[in-house]
Amino acid sequence: MYTLGVDIGSTTSKAVVLRDGQEIVGSSIIIATVGTRDVDSAERTALEKAGIDPSQIEETTVTGYGRNTYKDAGLQVSELTCHALGVHHFFPDAGTVVDIGGQDAKVLVLNKLGRMESFIMNDKCAAGTGRFLDVMANILNLDITQLEVEAAKAQNPVSISSTCTVFAESEVISQLANGVALPDLVAGICKSVATRTGSLVKRAGVRERVCMSGGVAQNAGVRKALEEELGVRIAYSEQAQLMGALGAAIYAFNKAQKKKGV
Ligand code: ADP
Repeated sequence: MYTLGVDIGSTTSKAVVLRDGQEIVGSSIIIATVGTRDVDSAERTALEKAGIDPSQIEETTVTGYGRNTYKDAGLQVSELTCHALGVHHFFPDAGTVVDIGGQDAKVLVLNKLGRMESFIMNDKCAAGTGRFLDVMANILNLDITQLEVEAAKAQNPVSISSTCTVFAESEVISQLANGVALPDLVAGICKSVATRTGSLVKRAGVRERVCMSGGVAQNAGVRKALEEELGVRIAYSEQAQLMGALGAAIYAFNKAQKKKGV
């Protein structure tokens, strides 16, 4: 049985095709433009990769910030539920999920069954989210994937004192003008996101195993700084950015099973 999970985020649209509630057979991540074309393209690409036709999808679930705009008004579920399901699928012993996306950061505390017990989120401020890293990469003329490469070369990471993205942007520009080495600056930028996220995690309560999801999890510089901040190892999968869409596909599978009375 195939199910589809769609995650319409603030910066990317993701889709996952799941076989029998277990195996990812197709997936895609499309950088969002305006409107819903990118969602169609995310779905189409995931189905093509799975080598199946839309009619073969038994159930679809949509999640994410833009889920209300989904064309067929499919089954809508919150990102919190979906990230919990997706991360639990990869890491059955996950106790804390740290999801940093394009415009917010969420910390979920899970029980042993993978159900969410509590959560905290920052959706008021760009600092501590992917947006902050996108802005910084842009002024440094780096691709987002280069941040971890530069951060790994740092000798003396600088500290970014501004807590606001707009002020931090000026601070980074003046640090550059003062001759601070690029790797030290980038490591400081990653650390700044980790410090903000770390305080959210501490407020939520650190329950091991701590796992990361969302696009920013792919940045090893942020992961390392957050590990230092919390004093624990952080588990992450290369599929981190797909965790919401994966959770949505799992939710769709569970729904389809219920309909069949399984
Ligand atoms: P949303 O669901 O809100 O659209 P995502 O979970 O897709 O957000 O995360 C998007 C963010 O992930 C971007 O703002 C960017 O900072 C970061 N990101 C995306 N791809 C990469 C990558 N390959 N390496 C590091 N960071 C990345």
